[in-house]
Amino acid sequence: MQNTEITGWYYVHVSYAARRRGMEVSMTELICIVCPRGCRLAVDEQNSYAVSGQGCTRGVQYGKDELISPVRVLTSTVRVNGAELRQCPVKTKNAIPKGFVFSAMRLLSGIELAAPVSEGQVIIEDVCGTGIPIVATRDIMQAGAQQQPEFCIQA
Ligand code: SF4
Repeated sequence: MQNTEITGWYYVHVSYAARRRGMEVSMTELICIVCPRGCRLAVDEQNSYAVSGQGCTRGVQYGKDELISPVRVLTSTVRVNGAELRQCPVKTKNAIPKGFVFSAMRLLSGIELAAPVSEGQVIIEDVCGTGIPIVATRDIMQAGAQQQPEFCIQA
C-alpha cells in the first residue's frame, strides 16, 4: 500500500493536570484540524468537555469529538490489475473511528482491483462493522483504452 495518508493525523496533543480554584482539573490542549487556521483548543474534561480557544463553533465540536470518540477519514490506494495506472486512490465515504484506521489499512493492503474502476465504486462495503464503505476516488481505465474527452467542440 502506498501514499497512505490519514486526514488529521498530524496534530499536537498535550495533556496536563492543573490545579485551579483548589480543584484538580484535567485539561487537554490540541490543535483544531478542521480548517487551516489551526486554533489552539483547550478541552476541560471535568467540565462537560467545555472547549475554549476556538475561532468558530466547528472547533467546539471537534474538540469534544476528539476526546470522546475521535474519527478520521482514511485515504489510501489499492492495487489495480490491467490498467496503465497501478494504484487507485480510495477513501472512506465518511470518517471512521480512529481505532479502526489500521485495521482498514490492512484490509486495503490485501485487495487487488481489476480495471476498469469507476469513481465512487465501492471497494469495501462495510469497514470493520462501521457501516461505512471505502470507495474509489477516480476512474481507472483499462490498459490501452482510449480516454474519453470531457467535452467535444463541434465544427
Ligand atoms: S476552531 Fe474554527 S476557525 Fe479555528 S481551526 Fe477550527 S474550524 Fe478553523
